[in-house]
Amino acid sequence: MQYNIGDRVTILAIKNSNGSLDLLFVMERDEHEGVQEHNCLIVGIDPNDSDDIIILCDFDPHSYFSFKIDLDIMSSHNIHSKFLNNKAAHIRPAMIWKDQPKETIQIHNLDPGGMACAICNNFVQYAAENLPNGVFICWNCKQTKNYLVRSFLKQNDIDSD
Ligand SMILES: [Zn+2]
Repeated sequence: MQYNIGDRVTILAIKNSNGSLDLLFVMERDEHEGVQEHNCLIVGIDPNDSDDIIILCDFDPHSYFSFKIDLDIMSSHNIHSKFLNNKAAHIRPAMIWKDQPKETIQIHNLDPGGMACAICNNFVQYAAENLPNGVFICWNCKQTKNYLVRSFLKQNDIDSD
């Protein structure tokens, strides 16, 4: 899994006995109780080591991972200057609990779907195939155009009963 600047990822943290937060590797999760999940933004990646990832952290881990973004780390990890002096942490891919999509895409499916009748060609909303081979024949044709329906089925070698 390749990560990119701008990705959001979830990392795991746990409160130490001294009250500070430490970051966990994913494989350590089950060894601890009270593991917290933090959703963080990737702001920097070392171009020479794509596993060397910098995230913004909205908490204060006081762990050896964390630091304030300075000019050196800004240039070495391609961090945008607007993040200068923000609190950040070094993480590795093995510390990323699960990937989160950049933005939640809401699917507004306003199209109820439907099918066109194979006989009269009228489009019927919400209709689904009611014959083999993905064929739909509307109720009206079934009732009133039986001769057309039968020849259509015969022509197309469709077995209906
Ligand atoms: Zn029809």
